[in-house]
Amino acid sequence: MSEDRPTNFIRALVDEDLASGRYAQVTTRFPPEPNGYLHIGHAKSVCLNFGLARDYKGFCNLRFDDTNPVKEDVEYVDSIQEDVKWLGFSWDDRLYYASDYFERLYQCAEELIKKGHAYVCQLSPEEVRQYRGTLTEPGRDSPYRDRPWEESLELFRQMRAGQFAEGEMFLRAKIDMASPNLNMRDPALFRIRKATHHRTGDQWLIYPMYDFAHCVSDAIEGVTFSICTLEFEDHRPLYDWALEKLDWPEPRPRQIEFARLNLEATLMSKRKLLLLVKEKYVDGWDDPRLPTIAALRRRGVTPEAIRLFCERIGVAKKDSWIELEWLEKAIRDDLNPKVRRAMAVLDPLTVTIVNWPDDEVKLISAPYFPDEPERMGFRDLRLTKNIFIEREDFSLDPPAGFFRLAPGREVRLRWSGYIQCLEAKLDGEGRPKELICSYSDEPKGLTGQKRPGIIHWVPAASSIKVEARLYDRLFLNPRPTGDLEKEMNPNSLVVRPNGHLEPALFDLKVGERLQFERLGYFYLEKKSESGWIFNRVVTLKDSWAKVKKK
Ligand code: ATP
Ligand code: MG
Repeated sequence: MSEDRPTNFIRALVDEDLASGRYAQVTTRFPPEPNGYLHIGHAKSVCLNFGLARDYKGFCNLRFDDTNPVKEDVEYVDSIQEDVKWLGFSWDDRLYYASDYFERLYQCAEELIKKGHAYVCQLSPEEVRQYRGTLTEPGRDSPYRDRPWEESLELFRQMRAGQFAEGEMFLRAKIDMASPNLNMRDPALFRIRKATHHRTGDQWLIYPMYDFAHCVSDAIEGVTFSICTLEFEDHRPLYDWALEKLDWPEPRPRQIEFARLNLEATLMSKRKLLLLVKEKYVDGWDDPRLPTIAALRRRGVTPEAIRLFCERIGVAKKDSWIELEWLEKAIRDDLNPKVRRAMAVLDPLTVTIVNWPDDEVKLISAPYFPDEPERMGFRDLRLTKNIFIEREDFSLDPPAGFFRLAPGREVRLRWSGYIQCLEAKLDGEGRPKELICSYSDEPKGLTGQKRPGIIHWVPAASSIKVEARLYDRLFLNPRPTGDLEKEMNPNSLVVRPNGHLEPALFDLKVGERLQFERLGYFYLEKKSESGWIFNRVVTLKDSWAKVKKK
């Protein structure tokens, strides 16, 4: 069945139900509400639902849970489909909408009324709250609870026909106002909503509640395992109640709950993400700092990395927070064997080699993948009189433990010889603007400098102009409470507009990735006039681990 995959409690339940003959095959569904873009939490659910269908040779439906006309939009319907496909999954011809079932849901509601399991209630929203009771006190029966079913039916039909205002009345289940589970205290099934729906237009003036729509939609589609997050555990009795009272034929779907993904240093709720977008804290739903699938894609993360991450975090029955490092590690592990290494200097400092002939270009053959040079081939580096090095690799006044370049010191140029800094020319503000160096193929072995560091470089003249966008975590607080002003990381985006990439990469295509040595994995988002725009997908190591240990 699925021997090669890590097992989990959901798979154990599936195995059990297949073995007992409760179900003959596996049908799952991924049921997003089209009220925002998918995020990495949804990816966990996508991987789980589509993954089960794949491994058990069953089916997974994509169903839009579009029962709330006020918040939903076709933009979201389109983006969700794109994201699921991009993650590598297919629903084939099983694309459904809860709104496809509005008539059927309406008929089911009438059936419950006729069987005496539902009634039209005219309490105001405020009264409903008062009657509901609390966790410690039972609720009270609505005065409308025992009206004859014929009266409820008549009113329900009038609700459908638009004869009442929003909030004037609603249809509710007749279950138990004293139930310890608040969801069972005569929950709402249908309510009046005079809004235009993105698919059904103005056809409906009443809309089913999520809890009612969900179980019936699952049952209509022949879903066997209705997998949802833990907060729905207390809704399961209602899920089962509705199908039972409708005498839905067996086998009915089985709801199974798992822990939602909480990822540190970011927000995971569509409502809060929408706020970040609307209030322009970020630059749209695909701003590479967001945890949305669209953002991760734009940043340069691969679908394989996201699937790897989801597989590694697994599914559990208890809520927990996952450190961002887990996602970063999965991204690195995915990219490491796949992408070529190259040199780019993002914050350039000019080096002039005094003992180098003006026009001489030395070609140096260097492997794109040093660990396995044959696999990705070689390119020529061009060493010239003027090169750029990273500003950070030079220090006028080097602190202890600094093994890179400083006045009088020597450093090795990656794949090449050694330079010694003879003089640092400064600008008006005392910042280095040019280093005068000498070059030698062998180290001079300067006294007091045991181990010259190795730094990356690019030739000044022929390199490709690059704008690099360095992304960092969106929130400083690992578990953001939503206080945006205080908790957002002011340096979540740092732009390096004057970068340079070694010239051999001139035919790199948009959408390709490279590892810039020592700087991280980068993704070429577009080639613009002023320079190629690279997004940093992830750094080479976890820079926050150090901070935490301090
Ligand atoms: P949000 O709070 O972000 O709006 P939601 O649960 O309301 O999330 P839906 O569109 O209703 O969003 O979710 C579709 C599916 O994705 C559901 O089955 C839900 O359980 C699952 N899901 C949503 N968020 C997460 C998460 N953080 N981890 C795992 N699964 C999730
Ligand atoms: Mg929801």
